[in-house]
Formats: sequence, structure tokens, C-alpha cells
Amino acid sequence: MLSELIELFEGVALRTNPERAIRLLGALPTSAIAAMQEARFKRTLRLAAERSPFYREQFRQRAIDVRRITHPSQLGDFYTTGEDLRAYGAEQFLTGHPDTAFETTGTTSPAPKTVFFSRDEVATMGRITAIWLYLLGLRREDRVLSAFDCSFWVSPWVLRSGLEYLKCFHVEAGKIDPHDFYERAKVYRPTVIFGEPSWMVRLSEIASDRGVWPLKFLFAGGENIAEDARSMVERVWSAPLYLNYGQTESFGALGAECKMKDGYHRNDLYFFFELGDVDQDGYGEVIYTTLARDVMPLIRYRSTDVTRLVDAPCDCGIFAGRLGKIRGRCDEMVVCGMGNVGPWVFEELLRGIEGTGEDWQAVVLHENARDMVELHVELDDGSRQSAVEESVHRNLRERFADFSKNREMKLYDLRVVACRSGSLRAGERKLRRVIDERLILGHRAKYTAVS
Ligand SMILES: [Zn+2]
Repeated sequence: MLSELIELFEGVALRTNPERAIRLLGALPTSAIAAMQEARFKRTLRLAAERSPFYREQFRQRAIDVRRITHPSQLGDFYTTGEDLRAYGAEQFLTGHPDTAFETTGTTSPAPKTVFFSRDEVATMGRITAIWLYLLGLRREDRVLSAFDCSFWVSPWVLRSGLEYLKCFHVEAGKIDPHDFYERAKVYRPTVIFGEPSWMVRLSEIASDRGVWPLKFLFAGGENIAEDARSMVERVWSAPLYLNYGQTESFGALGAECKMKDGYHRNDLYFFFELGDVDQDGYGEVIYTTLARDVMPLIRYRSTDVTRLVDAPCDCGIFAGRLGKIRGRCDEMVVCGMGNVGPWVFEELLRGIEGTGEDWQAVVLHENARDMVELHVELDDGSRQSAVEESVHRNLRERFADFSKNREMKLYDLRVVACRSGSLRAGERKLRRVIDERLILGHRAKYTAVS
């Protein structure tokens, strides 16, 4: 009963104007949010157990009686992984009629994962996005230009839906070459720009040469950014760059930065967060359960992103707790200017090139505010380095249109480093295939891929 009242309250809050919504939601005591999370969690679990073939079968095999479960931790070692989505197919997770689908690629295999949603879910996420953007200062009189990639990606949809509530001027450019964007954007004099971090860096380099116009802020999502790159962007525009943290599976924001830019305020009304495999510093894998999804709920979904939960109050005064900055990934994927890349990408780049050994290693570095992907390859003949690099670049163009386009846009660069035979493994049984050496939070990303 209490949770129904709170939900009613929340529904009213979300439908009012952003300013009042923030005041109303901020007035909810922590205990009320916890009560609502529990009620929504139980409802989600029942829905999944009744209608999703995947969850019904998993719960049956594990003798889990969902009527007895009130907290995700009571599910023991049961989790949902990206691999489950891929292996079983998204249809197995459906609990209602989908209106749309988005895809997420990369991870450890070339096969995309599909996630289904309803229009109502799009509208709800839009309202939350609108409230957040309002908090960051976006107003009806602002002019928004977005360079989010529209191909199968959820972010442009969520943004469009949010801007419908704020009713500001909005042009969708798509992820085009930053040069092209710069020239065409000038005409609209946008006050707020949306895009991916590495794309934003490139745009800012161009703007630094050719001139800037007044911006209120920049907003980026889809990958991490090193703080020196963020500073460069902010210096060029004399405006803050805010980051959003989300996944296609979560349908947009799991959390977003406030003006303090110290971690992402969590969306606790719509997700239940847990951490897995926590280390001594309190860092672990983000695991979330969707609390308000009727079409394809996810129970204890393993994000593979590593961070910590911060419940200490934030200086901005916003009530929601935070997710710390993302430290790295615990699967084999690295998100960088190239895109979402895992070992299979580099295998494919090297396939068919003569004189290369079985052992290779990709190292992602940060150079001059840009990601540099170094492909360390053991060569029979070291003098062939430039020929191998040429072949790798040719394979990139022929086999990976998107990654190749990102390189043409100078969002990253890719070079081949010749290594002596046997040097990469250097006594280790398992060769680490992808290493993220970019400095995040002042130290090297801790989690590296092992093949
Ligand atoms: Zn804050």
C-alpha cells in the first residue's frame, strides 16, 4: 500500500514540470525509496517467472520460489549475463509486447545482443532524462545538436524523448565526421552538444583551430573519458563536459554526472544496484536489476563494468547515491575511440597476414588526448613491420566499416608494433590479449583481458 502511494507520488512528480519534479522526488525519504524498490523488485521477479521462458526455466532448475524472494541477494549465485542474451536469444526474455529493439555489439563476439522495449518505457526514460538535463541547466530556449550514432543505438532515442518534454530546439546530426559537423553546426549555433567522448575530443580539436561559439555544456555517453581529455574539451569551449553512464541493456542512463562530476548519480527508482566480486578497495562489477520494465526485465544483469557504490552525500545536494567513475571492464572488451573492441576484432585484423605468429597483444594507450591502439605482433621478420601495418589497415577498411570510419575521423589511431618471437608470452601461461593502459582515476585500468 505504502509503495503504491509512493509510486503514485512518483508518477505525479514525473509528469509535472522538471523543477517541481526535482523538488518532489528530492523530498522522498530513503526509506520510501527502499520500500518502492522492494515492491518493484518483487513485481519484476513475478513477471519474469510467469512470462519469460528463460527466467521460468532458470528458476525451475534452481528451485527458486520467487514468492519467497524480497531482495536480489536472496537469489544466491543466479545472475543474467550478456552471454545469456546472446546464447538464448532476446525473445526468451520477453514478458510483454515489444514496440522497438536496439542492439549492442562488440563485447567478446561479433554477434550483437538485442534488447526489446515498449513505447511507454521510452517515454518514462525520456521524462527522467529531461529532469536530469534540466538539473544540468538545459532550458526551453536552448538549442541542442546531437551527434549520437543513430544506427541501432538507444541513446539518440532516449535523448529525443527527453527533449520532447523540455521542448527545446533539437537537430539530429548522427555520428558524422567532426569536420563536417563543425561546419554544419555553426549555422544552428547550438548551446548544448551531445556525442561520444572520443568524437567530442576530435570536435574540440577542430574548434580549437577554427574558433568556438558560446556553449552551455557538452554531454557525452557511450564510453569513458580520461580526465586530461575532458579538461582539454572544457578548456576549448569554456564549458563543462558531463558524462552519462548506461548500457543499451539498461535502456539509457543507469546514472549521470551532476555539476560536481564526481561519479554518476544512480537511478535508484528504476534499477536495483549490487556489486559483484568486490576487491579490498570496495570496487566490483556493477550488477543491476531493472525495476520498471514490463517488456524485457533483466534480473541481476552483470554489466562487466567495474566501479564502487558511493552513498556519501554529494556536494551538489542531490539525494540519489552514486556509482563511482568506471575503472575498467572485467570481460574481454575495451571501450575506446575505436569502438567496443575485444580479442576477436584483432584476430580478424590479423587473419590472412603472412609472417605473423599466433601470439599478439592489443594495448590501448592514451596519447595527445586521443586513444592509440597498439597491436603488438610477433613477426618472423621484424623488417616487415610496415608491410604488416599496411595489411592490418587494409583489413580494417575492408572488414570493419565502423572502426575504420572512426579512424578516418581521427577518434583514435592504430599502429602495429613488431615483437620478437616468444616475447609477448614471457613465461605466462595465458597471454593477455587486450590491455587497457589508459590512465583512469590516476592509475592504470586494473582489469585486463585474458584469453
Ligand atoms: Zn552530485
